[in-house]
Amino acid sequence: MAIQTRSLSWMERVYLSLLKGLGITFRTMFRKHIVRKYPEEPIPRSPITRGQPRLAQNEDGTTRCVSCGLCEFVCPAYAITITGGETERFIEREPKEFQIDMLRCILCGFCEEVCPKEAIFMSDELEFAGPTRAEHVLDKQALLRPISKLRQRIEFSNSIYNRWRRTALPADPAKNPAGPAAEPPVAIGVPHTDPTVRNAPSQDSNKNLPTRREP
Ligand code: SF4
Ligand code: SF4
Repeated sequence: MAIQTRSLSWMERVYLSLLKGLGITFRTMFRKHIVRKYPEEPIPRSPITRGQPRLAQNEDGTTRCVSCGLCEFVCPAYAITITGGETERFIEREPKEFQIDMLRCILCGFCEEVCPKEAIFMSDELEFAGPTRAEHVLDKQALLRPISKLRQRIEFSNSIYNRWRRTALPADPAKNPAGPAAEPPVAIGVPHTDPTVRNAPSQDSNKNLPTRREP
């Protein structure tokens, strides 16, 4: 027996579309809301948050940066400009001026990764707006943040970067018969308290860092 069919009229098609749309609306009403009412509901931060780079400031108000220029060199966006200078402090050099052009910065984190003195970190500061371009070129004073504010990120970055850092061999000849000549190089800037470790970083600049975790 042949089944007879007929195509829907224009009105029937409109009604069916409306019913479909209402069905979707009805289902969505009971789903979990994914809209965040920013800025009343700020974006959650964690140590993994890679916000704007900031310079670490010791508790005595001094900077950790020794103006070595590595971060300036490695920055792919040419966002960093450093004017180095000498200092009477143990570290001998510190930046007279340190600028980051946040309009150029792509938040890649290379500066944090390359810094040998743990002086620059990706903070959890995400907000970034203003009416002029000039106010987004941050100077040293605008970049400095107390270590206490960067603590979580410092510990997090230590935990990931220390995987690639080599630790010193024991100074005890019984445990290290090859002698000190065979010791692997120790990454400068790794915070530690072990006096047998060569190339110990300045206690002046690193005294407030957490103890190194072994990889
Ligand atoms: S986060 Fe990347 S782009 Fe931004 S200043 Fe550091 S190295 Fe440059
Ligand atoms: S790499 Fe670190 S110590 Fe060197 S200039 Fe940059 S912030 Fe300063």
